[in-house]
Amino acid sequence: MQVPHKEHLYKLLVIGDLGVGKTSIIKRYVHQNFSSHYRATIGVDFALKVLHWDPETVVRLQLWDIAGQERFGNMTRVYYREAMGAFIVFDVTRPATFEAVAKWKNDLDSKLTLPNGKPVSVVLLANKCDQGKDVLMNNGLKMDQFCKEHGFVGWFETSAKENINIDEASRCLVKHILANE
Ligand code: GDP
Ligand code: MG
Repeated sequence: MQVPHKEHLYKLLVIGDLGVGKTSIIKRYVHQNFSSHYRATIGVDFALKVLHWDPETVVRLQLWDIAGQERFGNMTRVYYREAMGAFIVFDVTRPATFEAVAKWKNDLDSKLTLPNGKPVSVVLLANKCDQGKDVLMNNGLKMDQFCKEHGFVGWFETSAKENINIDEASRCLVKHILANE
């Protein structure tokens, strides 16, 4: 007997200011490693992660790393094209990177919509949570409110260094994408 088999391929974007940990999150998620040596990404980078979602469903995630273009505070439409979801990342130890989150979200929404006209699902990542309690994160309620106001489907405190919540955040994003189809 043949088991029904569904395959999905999703392009996911990872955006946010320089140094917040985008490349580290992708490396942790896809290659299970972490390096504290800072190396700015140059050129667009891709990584593929395969999820065995349920017995019938395989989800292939094509993660797009932003290519040192953070300095412009926006991306070209070409980079966003045909993405099905995104992570917007900030660094909990640097408030300015949180202030940039709404800007990234607006840039994304102004340039990208799903084929059905809806905005793509976006999950907010408060990265470097291993660095200790920070000012922004003391108030989960405020973050929930922020996500509601800005149209994020959810948020997670993450650490690429300690491997905290990255799988969970990805599952949340994929769940929303599957539900939208
Ligand atoms: P990107 O510019 O957003 O791609 O940021 P990178 O992934 O290159 O990370 C910038 C710096 O932050 C590097 O030195 C990383 O080692 C460090 N970093 C990234 N994620 C974490 C984390 O979760 N915790 C800590 N403590 N450092 C991190
Ligand atoms: Mg990078």
